[in-house]
Amino acid sequence: MTGNQELTQRWQGALMNNYGTPRLPLVRGEGSTVWDAEGRAYLDFVGGIATNALGHAHPAIVEAVSRQIASLGHISNFFMAEPTVALAERLLTLFGREGRVFFCNSGAEANEAAFKIGRLTGRTHMVATSGGFHGRTMGALALTGQPAKQDPFRPLPGDVTHVPYGDAQALAAAVTEETALVIIEPIQGENGVVVPPAGYLKAARAITAATGALLVLDEVQTGIGRTGTWFAYQAHEGVLPDVVTLAKQLGGGLPLGATVAFGRAAELLAPGLHGTTFGGNPVACAAGLAVLDTIENEGLLDNVKRQSGRLRDGIEALNHPMIDYVRGAGLLLGIVLTGPRAPQVQQAAQEAGFLVNAPAPDVVRLMPPLNLRDDEVGALLRALPGILDAANPVDGDGRSGE
Ligand code: PMP
Repeated sequence: MTGNQELTQRWQGALMNNYGTPRLPLVRGEGSTVWDAEGRAYLDFVGGIATNALGHAHPAIVEAVSRQIASLGHISNFFMAEPTVALAERLLTLFGREGRVFFCNSGAEANEAAFKIGRLTGRTHMVATSGGFHGRTMGALALTGQPAKQDPFRPLPGDVTHVPYGDAQALAAAVTEETALVIIEPIQGENGVVVPPAGYLKAARAITAATGALLVLDEVQTGIGRTGTWFAYQAHEGVLPDVVTLAKQLGGGLPLGATVAFGRAAELLAPGLHGTTFGGNPVACAAGLAVLDTIENEGLLDNVKRQSGRLRDGIEALNHPMIDYVRGAGLLLGIVLTGPRAPQVQQAAQEAGFLVNAPAPDVVRLMPPLNLRDDEVGALLRALPGILDAANPVDGDGRSGE
């Protein structure tokens, strides 16, 4: 048995089956490269589903986490520590607004807190988008707009209306004086890197402001530099959300989520109404500070824009018949295929030493670390034609084979 097979077999014996069997057992990582249990290297364009802001084993994260856990580790929310306060302050500085932060451990949890903030307005109705993804816990799942993930768990917390994503008229029709909140992703990541029409977020702001509903932006996947600005909404003029939820990249690989609220939304969680034991623990917050420092010190927002342009242009310049176009922003890109062969592309890429994923049958998603290098982009662009050909074998009579 190979090292990969051995680890896979043990995995199947010991872990629940909710993820199916993972594709690949990984044992080590450095920057954007990971190695499997047999020592084979892969370029990681999945980045821990966009959590790995700085790649694997970045010295700034290693140093910050080591230093923090060697001095003051977990303390619970009965107490407080410098890195937690400092990270909240830094986030508010990046938003450029006064507000308050609730720290938790994941994206779903960040949205659960937003859900509760919504309920504390005294209204219960919520509006979310079809195809949207906000997490797997019951409140976040009620906001998620993907029936296959939701249906086995009904009844979910109620009074949620789903409207088509990107349709400002449908949104305006759904939001009433009873609506507590509207939750939107600036780009729908899990649904296949779906980008709304220009002006959508601005319209959502105007619609919610008119009825007193909170505008919650789920920036779990798009936030912390992923799209080339600190937060994706900052690329849109005239959009000031009431609540922004964050996770993934914020912790640079450690579990860390945040619900950031502004104005009256920041005052609704009174003592005793919400909490989580590990939320804001100093070790995860030290990692979060290291992520923000490194993005600044290494000019990574500029790198995101530059590598994004190189990837987009390079992929479209291939003029490959399987590629329709590339969509997304920054280093959250979807290669839209001309047919439903994304799972085959994912598999062929892995065999060629590249990790990508397939959030929709016809979309291949790229979300590498923000410090992705020129040579790594070059390597993917050189390999991509061969990967696409391998994913689309042509059989004897010249037709595409399934
Ligand atoms: N919101 C969005 C937009 C996401 O992409 C995700 C995760 N893919 C979540 C929420 C849930 O985050 P977590 O898995 O950390 O609970």
